[in-house]
Amino acid sequence: MKLPYCWNCQHHFKLREIILPWKQKCPVCGKKQFLTKESRFNTSLFGFIPMTIIFLFNLFVKLSTLNMIIIGLFIILLFLIIAPYFYKFTENEEPIV
Ligand SMILES: [Zn+2]
Repeated sequence: MKLPYCWNCQHHFKLREIILPWKQKCPVCGKKQFLTKESRFNTSLFGFIPMTIIFLFNLFVKLSTLNMIIIGLFIILLFLIIAPYFYKFTENEEPIV
């Protein structure tokens, strides 16, 4: 797995540089980065999987609200770390549909 690079200057991003992709600017050339339609689709799938896991977990194991929140936060954190590997950046903002 590889982290994405800038569409303009090919700078390879570090994880901490792209953890919030909607605020993304290249630290080298300062150009704004937009997620491609494809990578937005992939990351929304990623968002869907943790929700399903939490839901299924709750069906089989009766979790307290506190435990649910802790597991939820953990999964979100994991998501934030893994998702950037599936990002691809482009020059223009692509329409959602
Ligand atoms: Zn750049």
